[in-house]
Amino acid sequence: MTPMKTISHWIDGKAHPGDSARVGDVTNPATGLVTGQVAFAGPAEIEAAVASAKKAGLDWAAASVSARTQVVFRFRELLNERKEELAELITAEHGKVRSDALGEVSRGQEVVEFACGIPHLLKGGNSPQVSTGVDVKSIRQPLGVVGIISPFNFPAMVPMWFFPIAIAAGNAVVLKPSEKDPSAANWMAELWKEAGLPDGVFTVLHGDKVAVDGLLDHPDVAAISFVGSTPIAEYVYERASQHGKRVQALGGAKNHMLVLPDADLDLAADAAVSAGYGSAGERCMAISVVVAVGDTGDTLVQKIAERTATLNIGDGAKTGTGSEADMGPLVTQVHRDKVASYVEAGAAEGATLVIDGRDVAADGAADGFWLGPTLFDHVTPEMSVYTDEIFGPVLSVVRADTYQEALDLVNANKYGNGTAIFTSNGGAARAFEQDVQVGMIGVNVPIPVPMAYYSFGGWKASLFGDTHAHGTEGVHFFTRGKVVTTRWPDPATAGGLELAFPKNH
Ligand code: NAD
Repeated sequence: MTPMKTISHWIDGKAHPGDSARVGDVTNPATGLVTGQVAFAGPAEIEAAVASAKKAGLDWAAASVSARTQVVFRFRELLNERKEELAELITAEHGKVRSDALGEVSRGQEVVEFACGIPHLLKGGNSPQVSTGVDVKSIRQPLGVVGIISPFNFPAMVPMWFFPIAIAAGNAVVLKPSEKDPSAANWMAELWKEAGLPDGVFTVLHGDKVAVDGLLDHPDVAAISFVGSTPIAEYVYERASQHGKRVQALGGAKNHMLVLPDADLDLAADAAVSAGYGSAGERCMAISVVVAVGDTGDTLVQKIAERTATLNIGDGAKTGTGSEADMGPLVTQVHRDKVASYVEAGAAEGATLVIDGRDVAADGAADGFWLGPTLFDHVTPEMSVYTDEIFGPVLSVVRADTYQEALDLVNANKYGNGTAIFTSNGGAARAFEQDVQVGMIGVNVPIPVPMAYYSFGGWKASLFGDTHAHGTEGVHFFTRGKVVTTRWPDPATAGGLELAFPKNH
Protein backbone atom coordinates (compact mmCIF):
# COMPACT_ATOMS: atom_id res chain seq x y z
CA MET A 1 0.00 0.00 0.00
CA THR A 2 1.34 3.47 -0.89
CA PRO A 3 2.05 5.60 2.18
CA MET A 4 -0.21 8.56 2.83
CA LYS A 5 1.26 11.79 1.48
CA THR A 6 1.35 15.06 3.37
CA ILE A 7 1.09 18.10 1.12
CA SER A 8 2.39 21.25 2.82
CA HIS A 9 2.40 24.87 1.81
CA TRP A 10 5.53 26.14 0.05
CA ILE A 11 6.68 29.37 1.66
CA ASP A 12 10.08 31.04 1.50
CA GLY A 13 11.47 28.33 -0.78
CA LYS A 14 10.64 25.38 1.46
CA ALA A 15 7.81 23.15 2.62
CA HIS A 16 5.84 24.81 5.39
CA PRO A 17 3.54 22.39 7.22
CA GLY A 18 1.26 25.08 8.66
CA ASP A 19 -0.51 24.58 11.95
CA SER A 20 -2.15 21.40 10.53
CA ALA A 21 -5.37 22.05 12.46
CA ARG A 22 -7.29 22.08 9.17
CA VAL A 23 -6.50 19.62 6.39
CA GLY A 24 -8.31 18.13 3.38
CA ASP A 25 -8.26 14.62 1.96
CA VAL A 26 -6.79 14.04 -1.49
CA THR A 27 -8.05 10.98 -3.36
CA ASN A 28 -6.99 8.92 -6.33
CA PRO A 29 -10.15 9.04 -8.49
CA ALA A 30 -9.32 5.75 -10.22
CA THR A 31 -9.21 3.80 -6.94
CA GLY A 32 -11.35 5.92 -4.65
CA LEU A 33 -8.60 5.71 -2.01
CA VAL A 34 -7.47 8.65 0.09
CA THR A 35 -3.81 9.08 -0.85
CA GLY A 36 -2.87 12.25 0.97
CA GLN A 37 -3.76 15.13 3.17
CA VAL A 38 -3.28 18.72 2.15
CA ALA A 39 -2.77 21.54 4.63
CA PHE A 40 -5.47 24.24 4.71
CA ALA A 41 -4.13 27.72 5.39
CA GLY A 42 -5.40 29.89 8.21
CA PRO A 43 -4.55 33.54 8.93
CA ALA A 44 -0.97 32.77 10.11
CA GLU A 45 -0.01 30.91 6.91
CA ILE A 46 -1.66 33.54 4.70
CA GLU A 47 0.31 36.25 6.46
CA ALA A 48 3.58 34.27 6.25
CA ALA A 49 3.04 33.57 2.53
CA VAL A 50 2.29 37.15 1.55
CA ALA A 51 5.03 38.63 3.76
CA SER A 52 7.63 36.30 2.26
CA ALA A 53 6.44 37.06 -1.28
CA LYS A 54 6.45 40.80 -0.64
CA LYS A 55 10.02 40.75 0.67
CA ALA A 56 11.35 38.51 -2.12
CA GLY A 57 9.44 40.46 -4.76
CA LEU A 58 11.35 43.67 -4.08
CA ASP A 59 14.73 42.20 -5.08
CA TRP A 60 13.19 40.18 -7.90
CA ALA A 61 11.62 43.28 -9.45
CA ALA A 62 14.99 44.99 -9.27
CA ALA A 63 16.86 42.05 -10.88
CA SER A 64 17.92 42.62 -14.48
CA VAL A 65 15.63 41.43 -17.24
CA SER A 66 18.44 39.14 -18.40
CA ALA A 67 18.79 37.54 -14.97
CA ARG A 68 15.03 36.94 -14.73
CA THR A 69 14.83 35.56 -18.24
CA GLN A 70 17.62 33.07 -17.58
CA VAL A 71 15.67 31.60 -14.65
CA VAL A 72 12.54 31.23 -16.80
CA PHE A 73 14.60 29.55 -19.54
CA ARG A 74 16.03 27.12 -16.99
CA PHE A 75 12.53 26.37 -15.65
CA ARG A 76 11.47 25.59 -19.22
CA GLU A 77 14.39 23.21 -19.72
CA LEU A 78 13.76 21.35 -16.46
CA LEU A 79 10.03 21.12 -17.15
CA ASN A 80 10.69 19.74 -20.60
CA GLU A 81 13.09 17.12 -19.22
CA ARG A 82 10.84 16.03 -16.37
CA LYS A 83 7.28 16.55 -17.58
CA GLU A 84 6.47 12.85 -17.21
CA GLU A 85 6.79 13.21 -13.43
CA LEU A 86 4.31 16.06 -13.40
CA ALA A 87 1.90 14.18 -15.66
CA GLU A 88 2.05 11.20 -13.29
CA LEU A 89 1.08 13.40 -10.33
CA ILE A 90 -1.80 14.92 -12.29
CA THR A 91 -3.21 11.53 -13.24
CA ALA A 92 -2.93 10.29 -9.66
CA GLU A 93 -4.99 13.13 -8.20
CA HIS A 94 -7.16 14.38 -11.08
CA GLY A 95 -7.80 11.08 -12.87
CA LYS A 96 -7.19 12.20 -16.46
CA VAL A 97 -5.32 9.71 -18.61
CA ARG A 98 -1.55 10.07 -18.94
CA SER A 99 -1.50 11.30 -22.54
CA ASP A 100 -4.02 14.00 -21.62
CA ALA A 101 -1.99 15.00 -18.55
CA LEU A 102 1.11 15.29 -20.74
CA GLY A 103 -0.88 17.41 -23.19
CA GLU A 104 -1.87 19.74 -20.37
CA VAL A 105 1.76 20.14 -19.30
CA SER A 106 2.83 20.86 -22.88
CA ARG A 107 0.20 23.58 -23.30
CA GLY A 108 1.42 25.15 -20.03
CA GLN A 109 5.01 24.87 -21.22
CA GLU A 110 4.09 26.94 -24.26
CA VAL A 111 3.30 29.86 -21.96
CA VAL A 112 6.66 29.40 -20.24
CA GLU A 113 8.26 29.59 -23.69
CA PHE A 114 6.28 32.74 -24.45
CA ALA A 115 7.49 34.25 -21.15
CA CYS A 116 11.11 33.55 -22.19
CA GLY A 117 10.54 36.40 -24.65
CA ILE A 118 9.93 38.87 -21.82
CA PRO A 119 12.77 41.23 -22.84
CA HIS A 120 10.93 41.83 -26.08
CA LEU A 121 7.48 41.83 -24.46
CA LEU A 122 8.45 44.54 -21.96
CA LYS A 123 9.86 46.90 -24.55
CA GLY A 124 8.13 50.25 -24.33
CA GLY A 125 7.63 53.02 -26.84
CA ASN A 126 10.01 55.89 -27.40
CA SER A 127 9.28 59.14 -29.24
CA PRO A 128 12.26 61.45 -29.50
CA GLN A 129 11.95 65.20 -29.94
CA VAL A 130 8.14 65.38 -29.42
CA SER A 131 8.80 69.00 -28.70
CA THR A 132 12.07 70.87 -28.89
CA GLY A 133 14.47 69.09 -26.53
CA VAL A 134 11.69 66.81 -25.19
CA ASP A 135 11.54 63.02 -25.48
CA VAL A 136 8.74 60.65 -24.35
CA LYS A 137 9.03 56.98 -23.48
CA SER A 138 6.68 54.41 -21.97
CA ILE A 139 7.81 51.70 -19.57
CA ARG A 140 6.06 48.82 -17.84
CA GLN A 141 6.80 47.72 -14.29
CA PRO A 142 5.71 44.76 -12.15
CA LEU A 143 2.80 45.05 -9.72
CA GLY A 144 4.35 43.38 -6.66
CA VAL A 145 2.65 40.34 -5.12
CA VAL A 146 0.03 38.69 -7.33
CA GLY A 147 -2.35 35.90 -6.34
CA ILE A 148 -3.35 33.03 -8.63
CA ILE A 149 -6.34 30.88 -7.64
CA SER A 150 -6.82 27.83 -9.82
CA PRO A 151 -9.40 25.06 -10.41
CA PHE A 152 -9.02 21.30 -10.17
CA ASN A 153 -9.32 20.50 -13.85
CA PHE A 154 -5.91 21.76 -15.03
CA PRO A 155 -3.66 21.67 -11.94
CA ALA A 156 -0.55 22.48 -14.01
CA MET A 157 -1.71 24.28 -17.16
CA VAL A 158 -4.02 26.87 -15.62
CA PRO A 159 -1.41 28.12 -13.09
CA MET A 160 1.04 28.19 -16.02
CA TRP A 161 -1.32 30.46 -17.96
CA PHE A 162 -0.29 33.10 -15.43
CA PHE A 163 2.82 32.51 -13.35
CA PRO A 164 5.50 32.35 -16.09
CA ILE A 165 4.55 35.82 -17.32
CA ALA A 166 4.00 37.21 -13.82
CA ILE A 167 7.41 36.00 -12.67
CA ALA A 168 9.27 36.95 -15.84
CA ALA A 169 7.80 40.46 -15.55
CA GLY A 170 9.23 40.79 -12.03
CA ASN A 171 6.29 39.96 -9.74
CA ALA A 172 6.16 37.55 -6.81
CA VAL A 173 3.42 34.92 -7.08
CA VAL A 174 1.26 33.29 -4.41
CA LEU A 175 -0.55 30.33 -5.98
CA LYS A 176 -3.65 28.87 -4.28
CA PRO A 177 -4.29 25.64 -6.21
CA SER A 178 -7.38 23.47 -6.00
CA GLU A 179 -7.49 21.41 -2.83
CA LYS A 180 -8.60 18.40 -4.91
CA ASP A 181 -5.27 17.93 -6.74
CA PRO A 182 -2.69 20.05 -4.92
CA SER A 183 0.56 18.13 -5.56
CA ALA A 184 1.31 19.57 -9.01
CA ALA A 185 1.74 23.04 -7.48
CA ASN A 186 4.40 21.85 -5.03
CA TRP A 187 6.22 19.98 -7.78
CA MET A 188 6.37 23.16 -9.86
CA ALA A 189 7.55 25.14 -6.80
CA GLU A 190 10.46 22.75 -6.34
CA LEU A 191 11.27 23.06 -10.03
CA TRP A 192 11.43 26.84 -9.74
CA LYS A 193 13.87 26.49 -6.87
CA GLU A 194 16.03 24.15 -8.95
CA ALA A 195 15.85 26.66 -11.81
CA GLY A 196 17.39 29.28 -9.53
CA LEU A 197 14.35 31.39 -8.66
CA PRO A 198 15.02 33.22 -5.37
CA ASP A 199 13.08 31.88 -2.37
CA GLY A 200 9.76 33.62 -1.85
CA VAL A 201 9.17 34.62 -5.48
CA PHE A 202 6.95 31.55 -6.01
CA THR A 203 4.78 30.55 -3.05
CA VAL A 204 2.10 27.89 -2.77
CA LEU A 205 -0.67 28.44 -0.27
CA HIS A 206 -3.03 25.50 0.02
CA GLY A 207 -6.55 25.56 1.29
CA ASP A 208 -10.16 26.47 0.78
CA LYS A 209 -12.28 29.63 1.00
CA VAL A 210 -10.26 30.86 4.00
CA ALA A 211 -7.06 30.96 1.92
CA VAL A 212 -8.87 32.52 -1.05
CA ASP A 213 -10.51 35.23 1.04
CA GLY A 214 -7.19 35.90 2.76
CA LEU A 215 -5.61 36.70 -0.61
CA LEU A 216 -8.61 38.71 -1.85
CA ASP A 217 -8.54 40.92 1.24
CA HIS A 218 -4.80 41.26 1.81
CA PRO A 219 -3.57 44.81 1.26
CA ASP A 220 -0.20 43.58 -0.01
CA VAL A 221 -1.69 41.50 -2.86
CA ALA A 222 -1.94 43.76 -5.90
CA ALA A 223 -3.76 41.53 -8.38
CA ILE A 224 -5.77 38.31 -8.60
CA SER A 225 -5.96 35.86 -11.48
CA PHE A 226 -8.78 33.42 -10.80
CA VAL A 227 -10.06 30.45 -12.80
CA GLY A 228 -13.01 28.33 -11.66
CA SER A 229 -16.79 28.15 -11.69
CA THR A 230 -18.90 31.20 -12.53
CA PRO A 231 -20.44 31.86 -9.09
CA ILE A 232 -17.00 31.86 -7.43
CA ALA A 233 -15.45 33.87 -10.28
CA GLU A 234 -18.10 36.55 -9.81
CA TYR A 235 -17.58 36.54 -6.05
CA VAL A 236 -13.79 36.76 -6.41
CA TYR A 237 -14.11 39.60 -8.92
CA GLU A 238 -16.40 41.64 -6.68
CA ARG A 239 -14.54 41.06 -3.43
CA ALA A 240 -11.05 41.66 -4.79
CA SER A 241 -12.22 44.73 -6.76
CA GLN A 242 -13.68 46.18 -3.58
CA HIS A 243 -10.16 46.06 -2.19
CA GLY A 244 -8.87 47.97 -5.20
CA LYS A 245 -7.11 45.02 -6.81
CA ARG A 246 -6.70 44.33 -10.48
CA VAL A 247 -8.75 41.18 -11.17
CA GLN A 248 -9.26 38.73 -14.01
CA ALA A 249 -11.72 35.98 -13.06
CA LEU A 250 -12.41 33.27 -15.63
CA GLY A 251 -15.60 31.30 -15.03
CA GLY A 252 -17.59 28.35 -16.33
CA ALA A 253 -18.81 27.43 -19.78
CA LYS A 254 -21.38 25.70 -21.93
CA ASN A 255 -19.71 25.32 -25.30
CA HIS A 256 -21.81 24.68 -28.41
CA MET A 257 -20.63 23.03 -31.60
CA LEU A 258 -22.73 23.83 -34.67
CA VAL A 259 -22.84 21.24 -37.44
CA LEU A 260 -24.17 22.64 -40.70
CA PRO A 261 -25.71 20.39 -43.39
CA ASP A 262 -22.65 20.85 -45.65
CA ALA A 263 -20.18 19.68 -42.97
CA ASP A 264 -18.12 16.52 -43.21
CA LEU A 265 -20.15 14.53 -40.68
CA ASP A 266 -17.36 12.03 -39.98
CA LEU A 267 -15.00 14.85 -39.08
CA ALA A 268 -17.74 16.46 -36.97
CA ALA A 269 -18.54 13.21 -35.15
CA ASP A 270 -14.83 12.60 -34.39
CA ALA A 271 -14.62 16.14 -33.05
CA ALA A 272 -17.77 15.88 -30.92
CA VAL A 273 -16.56 12.68 -29.27
CA SER A 274 -13.02 13.98 -28.69
CA ALA A 275 -14.15 17.35 -27.36
CA GLY A 276 -17.14 16.02 -25.42
CA TYR A 277 -15.51 13.13 -23.61
CA GLY A 278 -11.79 14.00 -23.48
CA SER A 279 -10.73 14.47 -19.86
CA ALA A 280 -14.19 13.11 -18.94
CA GLY A 281 -15.71 16.42 -20.04
CA GLU A 282 -13.95 18.22 -17.19
CA ARG A 283 -12.60 20.96 -19.44
CA CYS A 284 -13.84 24.53 -19.66
CA MET A 285 -13.44 24.21 -23.44
CA ALA A 286 -15.21 20.84 -23.67
CA ILE A 287 -18.08 20.66 -26.12
CA SER A 288 -21.24 19.94 -24.16
CA VAL A 289 -23.86 20.83 -26.77
CA VAL A 290 -23.88 19.72 -30.40
CA VAL A 291 -26.36 21.74 -32.45
CA ALA A 292 -27.35 19.65 -35.45
CA VAL A 293 -28.61 22.03 -38.12
CA GLY A 294 -31.12 21.04 -40.81
CA ASP A 295 -31.36 17.33 -41.46
CA THR A 296 -27.98 16.33 -39.98
CA GLY A 297 -29.36 15.11 -36.62
CA ASP A 298 -30.07 11.41 -37.20
CA THR A 299 -26.85 10.64 -39.07
CA LEU A 300 -24.74 12.69 -36.69
CA VAL A 301 -26.16 11.05 -33.56
CA GLN A 302 -25.57 7.62 -35.10
CA LYS A 303 -21.96 8.47 -35.97
CA ILE A 304 -21.29 9.92 -32.50
CA ALA A 305 -22.83 6.86 -30.85
CA GLU A 306 -20.74 4.44 -32.97
CA ARG A 307 -17.52 6.21 -32.03
CA THR A 308 -18.46 6.52 -28.36
CA ALA A 309 -18.99 2.77 -28.17
CA THR A 310 -15.31 2.21 -29.04
CA LEU A 311 -13.96 4.26 -26.12
CA ASN A 312 -12.04 2.53 -23.39
CA ILE A 313 -12.81 3.87 -19.89
CA GLY A 314 -10.30 3.05 -17.20
CA ASP A 315 -7.42 3.93 -14.92
CA GLY A 316 -5.35 6.53 -16.75
CA ALA A 317 -2.22 5.55 -14.84
CA LYS A 318 -2.00 2.23 -16.67
CA THR A 319 0.40 2.94 -19.50
CA GLY A 320 2.45 0.78 -21.84
CA THR A 321 -0.15 -1.99 -21.86
CA GLY A 322 -1.31 -1.41 -25.43
CA SER A 323 -4.87 -0.92 -24.18
CA GLU A 324 -4.59 2.43 -22.44
CA ALA A 325 -7.78 4.14 -21.37
CA ASP A 326 -9.17 6.94 -23.52
CA MET A 327 -11.04 8.46 -20.61
CA GLY A 328 -10.52 8.26 -16.85
CA PRO A 329 -12.81 8.71 -13.85
CA LEU A 330 -14.36 11.93 -12.56
CA VAL A 331 -12.45 13.90 -9.96
CA THR A 332 -14.41 13.01 -6.80
CA GLN A 333 -17.29 10.79 -5.77
CA VAL A 334 -19.39 13.88 -5.02
CA HIS A 335 -18.80 15.27 -8.50
CA ARG A 336 -19.44 11.88 -10.10
CA ASP A 337 -22.79 11.64 -8.31
CA LYS A 338 -23.71 15.19 -9.29
CA VAL A 339 -23.04 14.45 -12.96
CA ALA A 340 -25.02 11.19 -12.68
CA SER A 341 -27.94 13.19 -11.25
CA TYR A 342 -28.01 15.24 -14.47
CA VAL A 343 -28.26 12.03 -16.49
CA GLU A 344 -31.26 11.09 -14.41
CA ALA A 345 -32.76 14.57 -14.79
CA GLY A 346 -32.24 14.69 -18.56
CA ALA A 347 -34.07 11.40 -19.02
CA ALA A 348 -36.87 12.53 -16.69
CA GLU A 349 -37.24 15.83 -18.54
CA GLY A 350 -37.81 14.03 -21.84
CA ALA A 351 -34.46 13.99 -23.65
CA THR A 352 -33.63 10.76 -25.51
CA LEU A 353 -30.90 8.90 -23.60
CA VAL A 354 -28.91 7.31 -26.44
CA ILE A 355 -25.97 6.15 -24.29
CA ASP A 356 -26.18 5.93 -20.50
CA GLY A 357 -22.78 6.39 -18.87
CA ARG A 358 -24.05 5.07 -15.56
CA ASP A 359 -23.83 1.58 -17.06
CA VAL A 360 -20.13 1.83 -17.78
CA ALA A 361 -17.83 -1.17 -17.28
CA ALA A 362 -14.58 0.58 -16.44
CA ASP A 363 -11.17 -1.03 -16.52
CA GLY A 364 -10.29 -0.01 -12.98
CA ALA A 365 -10.95 -0.45 -9.28
CA ALA A 366 -14.56 -0.91 -8.20
CA ASP A 367 -14.43 2.14 -5.93
CA GLY A 368 -13.18 4.52 -8.66
CA PHE A 369 -15.37 7.49 -9.51
CA TRP A 370 -16.56 6.09 -12.83
CA LEU A 371 -19.13 7.51 -15.15
CA GLY A 372 -19.02 6.64 -18.81
CA PRO A 373 -19.70 8.83 -21.83
CA THR A 374 -23.36 9.78 -21.97
CA LEU A 375 -25.24 10.94 -25.06
CA PHE A 376 -28.59 12.73 -25.10
CA ASP A 377 -30.54 13.51 -28.25
CA HIS A 378 -33.55 15.83 -28.70
CA VAL A 379 -32.42 18.09 -25.86
CA THR A 380 -34.33 21.37 -25.63
CA PRO A 381 -33.15 24.67 -24.12
CA GLU A 382 -35.26 24.56 -20.95
CA MET A 383 -33.88 21.17 -19.79
CA SER A 384 -31.31 21.23 -16.96
CA VAL A 385 -28.83 19.20 -19.06
CA TYR A 386 -28.86 22.19 -21.39
CA THR A 387 -29.03 25.12 -18.99
CA ASP A 388 -26.40 23.99 -16.47
CA GLU A 389 -22.67 23.50 -16.76
CA ILE A 390 -22.45 19.78 -15.95
CA PHE A 391 -18.66 19.45 -16.24
CA GLY A 392 -18.75 15.74 -17.01
CA PRO A 393 -18.90 13.37 -19.99
CA VAL A 394 -22.45 14.28 -20.97
CA LEU A 395 -23.04 15.41 -24.54
CA SER A 396 -26.40 16.90 -25.52
CA VAL A 397 -27.61 17.08 -29.11
CA VAL A 398 -30.03 19.92 -29.82
CA ARG A 399 -31.69 20.11 -33.20
CA ALA A 400 -32.12 23.41 -35.06
CA ASP A 401 -33.89 23.94 -38.36
CA THR A 402 -31.67 26.78 -39.55
CA TYR A 403 -28.24 28.33 -39.03
CA GLN A 404 -29.93 31.45 -37.61
CA GLU A 405 -31.80 29.39 -35.03
CA ALA A 406 -28.53 27.71 -34.00
CA LEU A 407 -26.69 31.04 -33.77
CA ASP A 408 -29.49 32.57 -31.67
CA LEU A 409 -29.24 29.62 -29.30
CA VAL A 410 -25.52 30.20 -28.71
CA ASN A 411 -25.98 33.94 -28.29
CA ALA A 412 -28.85 33.50 -25.83
CA ASN A 413 -26.68 31.33 -23.58
CA LYS A 414 -25.33 33.03 -20.47
CA TYR A 415 -21.84 31.66 -21.06
CA GLY A 416 -19.47 32.69 -23.85
CA ASN A 417 -16.24 30.74 -23.44
CA GLY A 418 -15.71 28.63 -26.57
CA THR A 419 -17.70 27.51 -29.60
CA ALA A 420 -17.12 25.74 -32.89
CA ILE A 421 -18.71 25.54 -36.29
CA PHE A 422 -18.36 22.59 -38.64
CA THR A 423 -19.04 23.46 -42.26
CA SER A 424 -17.45 23.40 -45.71
CA ASN A 425 -18.84 26.87 -46.47
CA GLY A 426 -16.25 29.60 -45.84
CA GLY A 427 -18.90 32.30 -46.00
CA ALA A 428 -21.00 30.68 -43.28
CA ALA A 429 -17.93 30.22 -41.11
CA ARG A 430 -16.95 33.83 -41.58
CA ALA A 431 -20.46 35.07 -40.70
CA PHE A 432 -20.34 32.94 -37.55
CA GLU A 433 -16.97 34.39 -36.53
CA GLN A 434 -18.44 37.86 -36.79
CA ASP A 435 -21.84 37.27 -35.20
CA VAL A 436 -21.28 34.85 -32.35
CA GLN A 437 -20.93 36.33 -28.86
CA VAL A 438 -18.19 34.04 -27.63
CA GLY A 439 -14.51 34.64 -26.86
CA MET A 440 -12.83 31.67 -28.58
CA ILE A 441 -14.10 30.25 -31.86
CA GLY A 442 -13.12 27.16 -33.82
CA VAL A 443 -13.83 26.58 -37.50
CA ASN A 444 -13.73 22.81 -37.98
CA VAL A 445 -11.70 22.81 -34.72
CA PRO A 446 -13.68 21.68 -31.67
CA ILE A 447 -11.40 22.94 -28.86
CA PRO A 448 -10.01 26.26 -30.06
CA VAL A 449 -7.62 26.96 -27.17
CA PRO A 450 -5.47 29.89 -28.33
CA MET A 451 -1.71 29.54 -28.55
CA ALA A 452 0.29 31.14 -25.71
CA TYR A 453 1.06 34.24 -27.77
CA TYR A 454 -2.66 34.95 -28.18
CA SER A 455 -4.92 35.46 -25.19
CA PHE A 456 -7.33 32.99 -23.61
CA GLY A 457 -10.69 34.12 -22.29
CA GLY A 458 -14.42 34.07 -22.75
CA TRP A 459 -17.23 36.57 -22.85
CA LYS A 460 -20.32 37.07 -20.67
CA ALA A 461 -20.50 34.84 -17.55
CA SER A 462 -17.27 33.09 -18.59
CA LEU A 463 -15.08 36.07 -17.64
CA PHE A 464 -15.32 38.81 -15.03
CA GLY A 465 -12.89 41.64 -15.64
CA ASP A 466 -11.73 42.53 -19.09
CA THR A 467 -8.26 41.06 -19.40
CA HIS A 468 -7.77 37.61 -20.85
CA ALA A 469 -4.99 35.19 -19.85
CA HIS A 470 -1.50 35.08 -21.43
CA GLY A 471 -0.41 36.64 -24.72
CA THR A 472 -0.11 40.41 -24.80
CA GLU A 473 -3.07 40.81 -22.46
CA GLY A 474 -1.28 38.65 -19.88
CA VAL A 475 1.81 40.84 -20.04
CA HIS A 476 -0.36 43.92 -19.57
CA PHE A 477 -2.22 42.37 -16.66
CA PHE A 478 0.97 41.68 -14.71
CA THR A 479 2.57 45.07 -15.36
CA ARG A 480 1.52 48.68 -15.14
CA GLY A 481 2.56 51.44 -17.44
CA LYS A 482 4.32 54.72 -16.93
CA VAL A 483 5.01 57.44 -19.42
CA VAL A 484 8.12 59.53 -18.90
CA THR A 485 8.45 62.95 -20.52
CA THR A 486 12.02 64.24 -20.44
CA ARG A 487 13.57 67.53 -21.34
CA TRP A 488 17.30 67.80 -21.61
CA PRO A 489 17.63 71.36 -22.74
CA ASP A 490 20.42 72.28 -25.02
CA PRO A 491 22.68 74.32 -22.71
CA ALA A 492 23.16 76.83 -25.51
CA THR A 493 19.42 77.74 -25.76
CA ALA A 494 17.92 76.88 -22.32
CA GLY A 495 16.19 79.23 -19.92
CA GLY A 496 13.08 81.38 -19.33
CA LEU A 497 9.80 81.01 -17.38
CA GLU A 498 6.66 79.62 -18.99
CA LEU A 499 3.42 79.47 -16.92
CA ALA A 500 1.09 78.49 -19.77
CA PHE A 501 -0.13 74.85 -20.15
CA PRO A 502 2.70 72.88 -21.80
CA LYS A 503 2.43 72.98 -25.57
CA ASN A 504 4.66 71.53 -28.18
CA HIS A 505 6.82 73.60 -30.36
P1 NAD B 1 -14.37 26.05 -8.22
O1 NAD B 1 -14.97 27.35 -8.55
O2 NAD B 1 -15.10 25.13 -7.30
O3 NAD B 1 -12.92 26.27 -7.53
C1 NAD B 1 -11.95 27.10 -8.11
C2 NAD B 1 -11.06 27.66 -6.98
O4 NAD B 1 -11.86 28.44 -6.10
C3 NAD B 1 -10.40 26.57 -6.15
O5 NAD B 1 -9.09 26.94 -5.86
C4 NAD B 1 -11.27 26.53 -4.89
O6 NAD B 1 -10.55 26.16 -3.74
C5 NAD B 1 -11.77 27.95 -4.77
N1 NAD B 1 -13.09 28.05 -4.16
C6 NAD B 1 -14.10 27.13 -4.22
N2 NAD B 1 -15.18 27.57 -3.54
C7 NAD B 1 -14.86 28.79 -3.05
C8 NAD B 1 -15.58 29.75 -2.26
N3 NAD B 1 -16.83 29.53 -1.87
N4 NAD B 1 -14.95 30.90 -1.94
C9 NAD B 1 -13.69 31.13 -2.35
N5 NAD B 1 -12.96 30.25 -3.08
C10 NAD B 1 -13.54 29.10 -3.44
O7 NAD B 1 -14.03 25.32 -9.60
P2 NAD B 1 -13.50 23.84 -9.84
O8 NAD B 1 -14.62 22.88 -9.57
O9 NAD B 1 -12.21 23.62 -9.15
O10 NAD B 1 -13.19 23.89 -11.40
C11 NAD B 1 -14.17 23.68 -12.38
C12 NAD B 1 -14.75 24.99 -12.88
O11 NAD B 1 -13.72 25.82 -13.40
C13 NAD B 1 -15.73 24.81 -14.03
O12 NAD B 1 -16.81 25.67 -13.84
C14 NAD B 1 -14.93 25.20 -15.27
O13 NAD B 1 -15.68 25.65 -16.36
C15 NAD B 1 -14.09 26.29 -14.70
N6 NAD B 1 -12.91 26.52 -15.52
C16 NAD B 1 -12.91 27.62 -16.32
C17 NAD B 1 -11.84 27.86 -17.14
C18 NAD B 1 -11.82 29.07 -18.04
O14 NAD B 1 -10.80 29.31 -18.65
N7 NAD B 1 -12.88 29.84 -18.15
C19 NAD B 1 -10.74 26.98 -17.14
C20 NAD B 1 -10.77 25.87 -16.30
C21 NAD B 1 -11.88 25.65 -15.49
